[in-house]
Amino acid sequence: MKRREFIKKVGVGAAAVGAGAAATAGLTGCGKQDDSAEVAKLKKEIAALKGKAPAVMKEKTYKWKMVTTWPPHFPMLGEGADNLAKWANEMSNGRLEITVYGGGELIPPLGVFDAVSQGTVEMGHGAAYYWAGKAPATQFFAAVPFGFNAQSMNAWIYSGGGMELWEEVYAPFGLKPLLAGNTGVQMGGWFNKEIKTINDLKGLKMRIPGLGGKVLAKAGGNAILVAGGEIYTNLDRGVIDATEWVGPFHDLKMGFYKAAKYYYYPGWHEPGTALEAMVNKKAWDTLPADLQAIIEAAAYRSNMWMLSEFEAKNNDALQTLVNEHKVQLRQFPEPVLKALKKMAKEVLDEVAASDPMSKKVYESFLKFQSNVSSWNAITEEPYQTFKKL
Ligand code: CA
Repeated sequence: MKRREFIKKVGVGAAAVGAGAAATAGLTGCGKQDDSAEVAKLKKEIAALKGKAPAVMKEKTYKWKMVTTWPPHFPMLGEGADNLAKWANEMSNGRLEITVYGGGELIPPLGVFDAVSQGTVEMGHGAAYYWAGKAPATQFFAAVPFGFNAQSMNAWIYSGGGMELWEEVYAPFGLKPLLAGNTGVQMGGWFNKEIKTINDLKGLKMRIPGLGGKVLAKAGGNAILVAGGEIYTNLDRGVIDATEWVGPFHDLKMGFYKAAKYYYYPGWHEPGTALEAMVNKKAWDTLPADLQAIIEAAAYRSNMWMLSEFEAKNNDALQTLVNEHKVQLRQFPEPVLKALKKMAKEVLDEVAASDPMSKKVYESFLKFQSNVSSWNAITEEPYQTFKKL
């Protein structure tokens, strides 16, 4: 082999392994040393680099844990967490292995926030309104009564400044939030009596979480916290008079139709509940940029997947409830919704008045809601009349 060709090949090969070897090849190429001595020296260098190459080129695998607030593999919500992990693994070619744990498998469902905050695990999946006790402003990033639907929530978070505020709310806890799902508009709940006026809510014992529960309390009802697995029994035994959960797809599986006759809409208290993935910020910062981008992409996909699943499957479940199980479908009368909306505004004003961060988020929320409402008034709303061929 001619010396020049050899040096060219060595240069290319070495460059692929490390810049140091390329520099060496380049320098020696200019000299007038004896060829055989130079070749021997270069061969030695290459051999040394080859020995090191596997360690240099093998990419690190990250093995993470994600704890969730959902029962293991719970339809839609838990599956959303499972999918996020699966997609991150696929996109990273196995470099990011996230093992998902259902609520209680590793950490109790409502211990997710602390576990991720403290770095016990790297990731969590749930809904931000579960953490109202940590920071009241978290509630704005899950569901606000008479607030955003899924489309507007996505727009606020992704493109309207919502994400920056969410990051600000989670920063003191060492957490990075990500949108990772949406239920769409929920149902108003299951009742054993008809709700004809706002007074029918007085004294009503209803399982309804978060800000919606505070609104019910203003209407004279009792908002009762019941874990998902105990709702049916409590409703059946009359411990509670009413409950909300999610929508027909889930509610059918929960069997609520066996314990309550009337199924009300719309879910004024949860018009487009966002689900979240949260990442321990220190763990996030150890990830290379491509794996960070992969987690973000998997969360985006999870968000879209979940909303699409709910939209595609809810009506079939509703038809089963109405036609097979003879559920009485009812719409809340407009005066009832109007009264609840007025009370919701009072509740939100109170939350904002009690906490500066909530005030800051609420102001952004109201501004964006006003903005998007103006646009929807000439797009979504007039279209609703003609939405079906
Ligand atoms: Ca709900």
